[in-house]
Amino acid sequence: MTPVLDVRDLTKIYGDGDTEVRALDSVSFQAERGEYVAVMGRSGSGKSTLMNILGCLDVPTSGTYLLDGVDVSRLTDAQLALVRNRRIGFVFQAFNLIPRTSAVANVELPLAYHGMKAAERHRRAMFSLDLVGLADRADHEPNQLSGGQQQRVAVARALVTEPALLLADEPTGNLDSHATEEVLSVFDDLNAAGRTIVIITHEPEVGARADRLIKLLDGRIVSDSWQSGRHAVGAQ
Ligand code: ADP
Ligand code: MG
Repeated sequence: MTPVLDVRDLTKIYGDGDTEVRALDSVSFQAERGEYVAVMGRSGSGKSTLMNILGCLDVPTSGTYLLDGVDVSRLTDAQLALVRNRRIGFVFQAFNLIPRTSAVANVELPLAYHGMKAAERHRRAMFSLDLVGLADRADHEPNQLSGGQQQRVAVARALVTEPALLLADEPTGNLDSHATEEVLSVFDDLNAAGRTIVIITHEPEVGARADRLIKLLDGRIVSDSWQSGRHAVGAQ
């Protein structure tokens, strides 16, 4: 089967000469459909640089990246924008919801570019909100929701296009322990339903929830291992 992610020798260098920073140094890994991968490492280890490349928000200095079998380095800017909109669902630390706009309207947003009828957008957004357990909050605006609920709305928005990959950069970084659990249990459910998830975090208890843990240090993978836990069955 084609891996969802196939990353080979990714290197990212910022600046040059005296200011050169090798943010990623020959990073290689593959992830199959349905895997739940955590990428961990301390501040400055290259996590966000990797996330930006996996999310097609940035390009590597060298190396290749195949998303669902497609070499993204060969795509035009317009094709890349389509990949970002349809094939990848993003979740960020700062939920990035539109203020004074209902939860369901926020979730519908990525579908606006799909030329889809309003009723169908609404139906899909409600389905997505239901997946994160917030169908009953569809008409609430972000400031009427708790932090954990806002992040679950952001997860619903990320899922609404049925992306191949859910990519989350420090999704619990702004949340207390209760809200963190709320969001992590949504990720557990989504993964149990077959979603491919890559979560980037510096919090060990968050990384521990994934099936597989990739550790970065100074832009290199220093370990890549399966974790035992409730998701370990079948994760070979
Ligand atoms: P993390 O997300 O793990 O904290 P980053 O990927 O943000 O790490 O950064 C990795 C390294 O690359 C750090 O040394 C950082 O200072 C450097 N870096 C990140 N972005 C840039 C940039 N736009 N220009 C120059 N250096 C950068
Ligand atoms: Mg970062």
